[in-house]
Amino acid sequence: MNILGDPEFKLEDIHDVNWGQVNDLLATDKEGEWVDNDTGWVHTPVTISVLYQPCCGVPSNSQAGPRNYVVDNFYYRSLVSVIHEKISGMNAANHHLFHMEPYEMLWQTENHQQPVCVQGELYTLPSFVDAYQKLQDSPPEPGCNLLRAIIALMFWFDVTPLTSFGNAKLWPLYLFFGNKSKYRRCKPLCHLCEHLPDSFKDFATAQTAGGKAPSPALMTHCSRELFHAQWKVLLDDNFLQAWKHGIMILCADDINHQFYPRIFTYSADYPKKILIVSIHNLGKCPCPHCLIPLNCVCNLGMARDMTQRDTMARVDNVQRHSRIEAVQRLIYEKNFMVNSAAVEKILRDTSLVPTANAFSNRLLSVGFNFHSMLLPDLMHEVEIGGWKALLIHLLRMLQSVNDQLLVELDRG
Ligand SMILES: [Zn+2]
Repeated sequence: MNILGDPEFKLEDIHDVNWGQVNDLLATDKEGEWVDNDTGWVHTPVTISVLYQPCCGVPSNSQAGPRNYVVDNFYYRSLVSVIHEKISGMNAANHHLFHMEPYEMLWQTENHQQPVCVQGELYTLPSFVDAYQKLQDSPPEPGCNLLRAIIALMFWFDVTPLTSFGNAKLWPLYLFFGNKSKYRRCKPLCHLCEHLPDSFKDFATAQTAGGKAPSPALMTHCSRELFHAQWKVLLDDNFLQAWKHGIMILCADDINHQFYPRIFTYSADYPKKILIVSIHNLGKCPCPHCLIPLNCVCNLGMARDMTQRDTMARVDNVQRHSRIEAVQRLIYEKNFMVNSAAVEKILRDTSLVPTANAFSNRLLSVGFNFHSMLLPDLMHEVEIGGWKALLIHLLRMLQSVNDQLLVELDRG
């Protein structure tokens, strides 16, 4: 309305537009996105196992075991088919915008003797160069002499409210190709469910001794399990096969390439990050990247803190994996509560939660450390998040000391 009402706006520009047709087109487009076909959206039920909840948290010898709960219609697009569609859909005109080889971007000024390395795109980052080099150094598939390239996957995940009133929300997962400039658009890949449907509560109540309402800890645990069950659908066997052996796709330059998908980034705010890496919210070790304890967070930014981020980095390895397997056995086979002392004893020192992490289950075997894919989320953590709150607090402190200091700061 602001655009249309602007005095500069020329009405003749939109005079002949058939608004009814535009409306119809938008509606059709939306439908088209969800068509079930080879390259489009598909849906599948997702199953999670819901444990039996004994009374008072004491494991019982009851025969009641875990039962499967099925969430219908998880809508998604297969990662491999999206990659296929993306590459084979490029034409000679836009083919050069897709960077198959990384490079360094350097900036040289008269004042500097040495050129400065500029990092702004994924395909100019050392991590891309490393992954590319590692791939070139690895033995090719038997009998394959095709050019090998990395497909850099970048995910982004946030909530989208569907209505102005009420709680209807979608949790779209967006996929962006790091081989293309960040100025190109990203597209939704699937709609992850953060919350279980209302009917889940009845199901979980039936799984609880004495028909009591499910505990908040159980509800949280099941939501986490559902999130990772959906990721397991995305990280399917085709994707794993492509990761290990590549997929051959004919490019717009009429040359067959062997493409290897790699996950580089996953952007989300803190509550989603802890969901992705399966740790407690602000637990003993609150950081999704490292094991620095909460009481040392005040050292943030000091030299020692910077070193400790490396020395105490979280890694996915067999030990982590077997710890989770051990607690899952306690929960699903021996009926221990998800937050029982026995479970916490195994997980507490690293603030893990007893969730079967999809990235660990699917990608540990190919040496992927999922902790490293999380990035600072510019919007949530800087622009509207913690940093903004901190800045406002600092300004208030300044004002409380002396009004003139704010003027002084503005002048600076
Ligand atoms: Zn950290």
